Amino acid sequence: MDLGVHHFAVLSTGELFENPKPISHHVRRMARLNREFSRRQKGSKRRAKTKAKPARCHARVANVRRDTLHKLTTHLATAYGTVVIEDLAVKNMTASPKPKADPENPGHHLENGHAARAGLNRSILDIAPGELHRQLTYKMGWHGGHLVVADRLFPSSKKCSSCKKTKATLSLATRTYRCEHCGLVLDRDHNAARNLAAYGKKHLVAGSGPETQNGRRGDASCTSDTGAHSPKSPRGRKRQDGSGQPAKAVTASSQGEAA
Ligand SMILES: [Zn+2]
Repeated sequence: MDLGVHHFAVLSTGELFENPKPISHHVRRMARLNREFSRRQKGSKRRAKTKAKPARCHARVANVRRDTLHKLTTHLATAYGTVVIEDLAVKNMTASPKPKADPENPGHHLENGHAARAGLNRSILDIAPGELHRQLTYKMGWHGGHLVVADRLFPSSKKCSSCKKTKATLSLATRTYRCEHCGLVLDRDHNAARNLAAYGKKHLVAGSGPETQNGRRGDASCTSDTGAHSPKSPRGRKRQDGSGQPAKAVTASSQGEAA
């Protein structure tokens, strides 16, 4: 699964989850309510009444976010035996880029893509990756599945999921991955998700320790003892290994594989 900017999440199967963007929808309303509140005279009845409004708005945002995240993690844990996610360096993604001085124009600064990053930061924060990670860890554990966290240096976006060649650069604004080696044209996030799925297959079979988080208490045989875990485990519900069709299509993806 890749956490997208324009989508909430994209799976390697092409299954797409739309971003609810709870903050973006409510942020303007919240700002207006806060202004309204600060205009009210201190100690007045109207001030006390107005105070509850932004708080309600805030609670709504939190509810939408919590609900969406729980639905996604429950779906993943029940439909799939193995889920691979990126180790998102949250701090790096939310930090504002430092301004770069323009060498040809003293006193001015180069365009540093601040707006593009702010957009990414906004939606990443909406998704709350730390909470996603936490929920997946315990829910995959409940269902006897595996959560694989890809190394943060793994180039999931820059790699071609078809021929495995890695691009030197890929700007955030580029929404479609185009491979100059094999001609693959695929949605950027879908390409990243397919790379993560391949990463998970490789590392789960190899039985790697630190990245694999086996939630099944007192039974680590799937990853370390046998070394060859079948994602289609007969235990619990019927699952897929990530390459088949999703058990329950939440949102049909319009992005087919155009390899
Ligand atoms: Zn390629």
